[in-house]
Amino acid sequence: MKPFDQATAIVCDALATLRDNAGALPRASRESLERLIEAKAAPVTVAPQTPVVENAPQPATPKTSPAPPVPSPSPVSPASGDKAERLEQLRQQLLACQKCTHLVSSRSHVVFGVGNPEAELMFVGEAPGADEDLQGEPFVGKAGQLLTKIIEAMGFARSDVYIANVLKCRPDMPPGESGNRKPRPDEMATCLPYLIQQIEIIQPKCLVALGATAMEGLLGQPVVMRDVRGRWHDFKGTPLMATYHPAYLLRNQSLGEKRKVWEDMLQVLEKLGCPISAKQRGFFLPK
Ligand code: SF4
Repeated sequence: MKPFDQATAIVCDALATLRDNAGALPRASRESLERLIEAKAAPVTVAPQTPVVENAPQPATPKTSPAPPVPSPSPVSPASGDKAERLEQLRQQLLACQKCTHLVSSRSHVVFGVGNPEAELMFVGEAPGADEDLQGEPFVGKAGQLLTKIIEAMGFARSDVYIANVLKCRPDMPPGESGNRKPRPDEMATCLPYLIQQIEIIQPKCLVALGATAMEGLLGQPVVMRDVRGRWHDFKGTPLMATYHPAYLLRNQSLGEKRKVWEDMLQVLEKLGCPISAKQRGFFLPK
């Protein structure tokens, strides 16, 4: 089979998998189709053959390396429809994702994200835990309930904002062990393109990273929380605030730590241009 035909077969297989598993027809732009047709019609250039001389010394044969694995298709940017429709197209792609085989075999649900497709504010966590894996929604456990309280104290409903994780499948645990583990950098890097697509569709005015691991997943490098928390960063052109994960506040219930997170949220409200009452400004200050 010619290299072009091999490549075409791989693309067709990937699209067929997408169609069969996602329950939605894959889309391609007119320009892509025209370029595919042009490439198919283009003459194949054949390198001139070197004449073979019997018994001539042969050049050293380069060591063959194993063929690289065929990657799962990267998320295809949903091009049509309003934000809700494009998010749904992306969700259908995500439900069929098999990139991390160890997570595919252990997950109950792919946890896509939840909230308002038109949200100006988007919260980003690290990965689903056991509760989220069972319910298919991010931040539904105790930490999620605290996040909802924070959102409401800011003057929003949970349904006004958008909430998603860097990793969409729950990190697997050793057999017989319960609890949750941190996602690994390589797992987050594999899944990050989906989050980038979500952000590109929603176009929030600002992002809030909840915890060091989410921040590391977004930036692709280790961070020290005390260095990054409470400051504005940039994520592909969108202002990004780093704050503590709500689970940290559940473990450290001091007024001082709550105030730190609240001051981060006050900065977010200012960035969004939201009015802030005197009562809100005074939350978690010592009496
Ligand atoms: S974690 Fe992300 S990339 Fe990995 S299988 Fe789940 S959806 Fe796919």
